[in-house]
Order: sequence, then C-alpha cells, then structure tokens
Amino acid sequence: MPTMRAMQVSEKGGPFELVTREVPSPGPGEALVRVHACGVCHSDMYAKDGLYPGVTFPVVPGHEIAGLIAGLGDGVHGWEAGQRVGVGWFGGNCGYCEPCRRGDFIGCRNMAIPGVTMDGGYADYVVVKASALASIPDELESQDAAPLLCAGITTFNALRRSGARGGDLVAILGVGGLGHLGVQYAVKLGFETVAIARGTGKEELARKLGAHHYIDSTAQDPAAELQALGGASVILATVTSASAMAAVLGGLGQRGQLLIVGASGEPMQFPPAMLIGGNTSIAGHASGTSQDSQDTLAFSRLAGVRPMIETLPLEQAGEAYDRMMAGDARFRMVLTT
Ligand SMILES: [Zn+2]
Ligand SMILES: [Zn+2]
Repeated sequence: MPTMRAMQVSEKGGPFELVTREVPSPGPGEALVRVHACGVCHSDMYAKDGLYPGVTFPVVPGHEIAGLIAGLGDGVHGWEAGQRVGVGWFGGNCGYCEPCRRGDFIGCRNMAIPGVTMDGGYADYVVVKASALASIPDELESQDAAPLLCAGITTFNALRRSGARGGDLVAILGVGGLGHLGVQYAVKLGFETVAIARGTGKEELARKLGAHHYIDSTAQDPAAELQALGGASVILATVTSASAMAAVLGGLGQRGQLLIVGASGEPMQFPPAMLIGGNTSIAGHASGTSQDSQDTLAFSRLAGVRPMIETLPLEQAGEAYDRMMAGDARFRMVLTT
C-alpha cells in the first residue's frame, strides 16, 4: 500500500507528530485530494485541544486545503482526477437534518469538518466528500488559495451578504489574519473602507491594501471617529477581543450592523439601550459552503485579492501552529508538501 506523511495530534492538547500512514481510499461520494498546501488557522485549536464536539484522537488537523484530485470514489459527478480543488471548514452536509432540509447547509447539525470531525489537510493526502470541493482558478497558487478557504471565505461571504452596498461606509475591526483580507474585500466590493487596529503599526499596510481611512483605537475613540465619517453600515469584527468589539458599537450608523466573525469566548459588555435609537444590531456569520468557497476564490482572482502568508514545510506544523497562536504570523501560516 502507498504511504504518506501526516502531522497528527495523538491526544488532547498533545504535540504535532510526524507519522507515516497508508494513503486512504475514497469511498462512495468521496474524493482523494493530493494536498499541495494547507493553511494554519486559529480554529485548528478546536481539534488540537479537543474542544469541538466530535473530535477523536489521533486527529490530523487542517481545514484550509488546496491541492488536486488524485482519485474519486463511486458515484461522484462533476469532478475529474487532476482538477485543482480546495476544501475549507465546510466538509459536506448530511442532507437529512432540519437546516439541510431547509437548504441552509452551513447550519447542518451533522456537518463534516476537515481536520476536526475527520482527518484534515496536515498531510500529503486527505479524503473529503466531493460535495465539499471548490474549484481553484489556474491563476491562484495553492499556497495563496489555502487561506482563502477559511480566512478568505469568512470575511468575503460575511461582507457580500451583509446588505452593505457600493459606497457605504464599512469598517474592518482588526488588521490581522482575517482583517487584512477583510480590508481588501471591502475595498474591492466598492465600500468606503475603514481599517481599525491598535497603534499606528498597521496603518501603512492597511492603506496599501486599499483602506480609505485608518483609526488607531489606542489613540482615538473608534466609535466617535466612525460617527464623524457618517456612521458605519457594517463593522466586521475580525478580532477576538470582546471589549474591542463593544468599543466600536457606538460607531454604527442608522440600521448599522456589527457583524462578528472573530471567534471569541469572552462575554461582551455594552448597554443594550444603545442598540435601540439607531435600530442597530449585532450578528454573527458562519463561513459558507463549498460554492461560497469557490465564489471566494473566483472573486479573489478577479479582483486581485491575495493573502499575505508565511510558508513552512509540512513537518514544521508545530512551529507554524505556535507562531500563529502567538500572533506572530504575518498574516497566515501555510504548510506546503
Ligand atoms: Zn479556519
Ligand atoms: Zn444536515
């Protein structure tokens, strides 16, 4: 049997270990993907630390997978061996739960998540449901496509479904792994774009990425600054600090929305009354389905949106993960095979 390398975590919270495994075979409706690149995401923590329901050890993390189809199981339609494909957090829906039966696939109660509920992309090969595949445009390198399959779709899909229209004032809170993509998408979607970050260190980059305005939240009151610009239609919160989110809430314009994609477990404190006068709201947004991923990749090619990445070889998954967790990555770590 042919073998492959995989970086597995053997026990809850354990280190990444290089192991040799047999290359898995795709079952009915599945595809075997030869992984070329896999992004390292903060949500890999849910697998490594066993925090997500359904994680079993050993687990191979990785849900920002870019590569090509190396084999197909029975009954797969619409895909061919050799095609370049990606897979993100959405690993396929069950088709029988209530959200699925309503067509809300990202709400599937039995959703497969690569690298969390099944082995993921920190390996030479991975088997996924064919319904989870997204086509990668030729012009996109695998290492650039990988982070777009989680960080990219998360920000792009939230913004395009936010209801904001061309010319609206849209703020991106945080200029990091998610935020540096959020700024680019907001600009390319035609929004008057405000980047908000701590300190002046990110200003030059934010402006280079196209931001029309920059707010240093340590020196200025971000809510007052947003109001001075007319009030934001949407503020996309990409940070994980609940207090930073609460601090911008007052910057929403009439019927504006704070849209949360930064996964924080902290309680958020704000006076509920402040939502009433302006009919403002706070909402979350889950990433999206395989077609949303494909749309993200296609738009990124069309508009020239690219992630800023640091690459490391697969065997250095532990180092890449530690850099990401420490906030040292500029801005997304990608493992290459
Ligand atoms: Zn992710
Ligand atoms: Zn379902």
